[in-house]
Amino acid sequence: MWELKDDDRGLFNAVRRFFGFYSNPPYIANELHVADVRSAFWQTSIVSCLEIGMILRYVINWVLPGKVASVGDFFHYTSAYWQLLAASLILLVYSVLYLNNKLSSGLKKISWLVILLYFIHSMYFGFITGLHDFSRGRMILCFLSMLMSVTVICIWRPFTSLLLSTSSCLLFVYLLNNHTFDKAGNPLYLSEGDAINLFTFMVTLFVLEIAVYNQRYSDAKKSWKLELASITDDLTGLPNMRKFNQAAMDYTDQLLKEGTVPLYLVLGIDNFRTYNDRFGYDGGDALLTRVGRMIQSSFPGEPVARESGSTFCVLTTAQNVAQRAGQIQDQIRSSYPTETYLTLGVGAYHDAQASRNPRTCVDRAHHALGILRQKRDESTLILEYSEKMHKDYTLKQYVLNHLEEAIREGYIQVYYQPVTWSSDGTLAGCEALARWIDPNVGFLSPGLFIPTLEESRQIHKLDLCIYESVCRRIRDCLDNGLPVLPTSMNFSRLDFELMDAVGELENLVAKYQIPREYLHVEITESAVTEDVAGLKKDMQRLHDLGYVIWLDDFGSGYSSMNVLKDFEFDLLKIDMEFLKNFSGNQNSRKIISRIIDLADDLGMLTLSEGVETQEAVDFLREAGCGRMQGYLFGKPMPYEELLSKITEGSLTLAPDSLTRTQESRDLRKNTAAAAAER
Ligand code: C2E
Ligand code: CA
Ligand code: CA
Repeated sequence: MWELKDDDRGLFNAVRRFFGFYSNPPYIANELHVADVRSAFWQTSIVSCLEIGMILRYVINWVLPGKVASVGDFFHYTSAYWQLLAASLILLVYSVLYLNNKLSSGLKKISWLVILLYFIHSMYFGFITGLHDFSRGRMILCFLSMLMSVTVICIWRPFTSLLLSTSSCLLFVYLLNNHTFDKAGNPLYLSEGDAINLFTFMVTLFVLEIAVYNQRYSDAKKSWKLELASITDDLTGLPNMRKFNQAAMDYTDQLLKEGTVPLYLVLGIDNFRTYNDRFGYDGGDALLTRVGRMIQSSFPGEPVARESGSTFCVLTTAQNVAQRAGQIQDQIRSSYPTETYLTLGVGAYHDAQASRNPRTCVDRAHHALGILRQKRDESTLILEYSEKMHKDYTLKQYVLNHLEEAIREGYIQVYYQPVTWSSDGTLAGCEALARWIDPNVGFLSPGLFIPTLEESRQIHKLDLCIYESVCRRIRDCLDNGLPVLPTSMNFSRLDFELMDAVGELENLVAKYQIPREYLHVEITESAVTEDVAGLKKDMQRLHDLGYVIWLDDFGSGYSSMNVLKDFEFDLLKIDMEFLKNFSGNQNSRKIISRIIDLADDLGMLTLSEGVETQEAVDFLREAGCGRMQGYLFGKPMPYEELLSKITEGSLTLAPDSLTRTQESRDLRKNTAAAAAER
């Protein structure tokens, strides 16, 4: 990689630089070539016009008055103009194509040769005319103007320019003194005064060339600096992603010819944040710079860049990637021996199709890294993007890009799963569960799209759509005298963060005129263990308004007991994990019984999820669990299906579902009152 160095110091360097004895970095060399070609464009445009002017002049002065005998004569006397015109047109076309990027790189590279040929051709005419004029006793202005006009397109390194213009002048003087004669045949010589004038002209020309060259050089250097800044990562000095993408495309082209499949890697330092917290941003920056260098030297000559934060990208053909990653990991650990939490993770993607689409490839490698991190398996250093990941990823992208459309077009639907009373098996209500039935990708399960929408903080859009569907459905049932079931709706923790969930619910209740006791709020246990203050306030608002709040998935998290300690719920939904492998499992029975007792003590009602067997029903009834939900009573289904099950008698409505629900709130209030009295 070329670096910008200012090595003008010292007499030797100054002289060297003055004459241009150094090689220019490719970027600057190219800029200088382009500048020459640009000059050539202007020069040849003007020369072409001049030559056409000269030919026209000849036509007006000689042809039209009938002073030329034949066409042959016409071309004979104007041949110099035609030749100069042809040469300048050739160079003009070449420069236009060059400047519009229409030439192959090979043809571009020989721009100096094309210009040199033009120079020689023009100077040839300069010599001929100059010598002719001199022998006729005229001035040598034609030679000088020819020299001047071609010099402007040969602003090359000073020693080359000096060589070209000086040798032209010296040769011309030599020819003047040795090969020109007057009409009588006596040799002619350049007078001393004219020789001095020519010398001064030559020096002036050289000074001009140097001035223009240096101006162009410093412009090129400036634009190179800007260019470098735009492709370099400020922090690590590595190329940035813009440069990486370009380099990756070029590299892929090269590999394609060799038949090699490129491998994209995204290397990330885990727990980098902890390091930043401990050592500040300066410390973090130093670490990143160092790791960047380690990665660069592990993959010499291949595209490497810092992607963002603490992740780096590499495009490689190396076979032993795992080994190299291991070495980088070891280097990090030996450089920072006390910081044991600094580990490396690598996501990989084989670009088998040589897609020439670095962004997508990096994205996929990044995705693999994300999954590796989720696994938190310290022994695995590298994970490759797989077919399955690809499917999930594509589906995720689909979900993210089509949510609004799915809501608008009604692809998001609500399925209802029956909840029954344990005492008599009649319907206590139902749970509203989202389904995405898409015309393009078919049926999507909430297990896929809910976490995706939570990750992208869009879950509230879906939930609002579900709440509205539920309210609309209840209104419809009320208006048409159909059975109305109290419905519990799932609230994500983010719903309370991303919108005024309580306010939105209240708006819907007002819009559809729904009695609040028909709506239960389900909040999952994990939601309650994270942010607290805001959620507590919202739960209080819900309670004050008369809603019943259920604790979903109780026992699935790490701090179930703390949730019970700190929050007030009306009903506890025992997570379905407890009923997994239930048959004959005494421990499950004991745990579920204790949970039910505990809920009783705390004045909470109970519901068991995932009930699939009669054995579970019998046990739960005996243990005193109030309600049950599970495939045994029915899977989530469209409301129409639920209604027809009621009509055909496989599900029975409880006449007092609402009042029994009401009891739950009263029970909570009574327990709270009793506690206060005590
Ligand atoms: P969840 O709230 O715990 O819902 C119960 C899940 O268990 C449902 O899965 C249901 O189909 C399933 N299930 C019910 N009975 C049984 C059973 O007997 N056996 C087994 N194996 N499974 C049973 P579903 O509908 O796929 O929903 C998965 C999760 O997605 C829900 O878990 C909930 O956390 C979330 N979810 C679903 N709909 C919504 C929604 O509208 N909003 C939000 N925020 N989350 C939702
Ligand atoms: Ca639920
Ligand atoms: Ca649940």
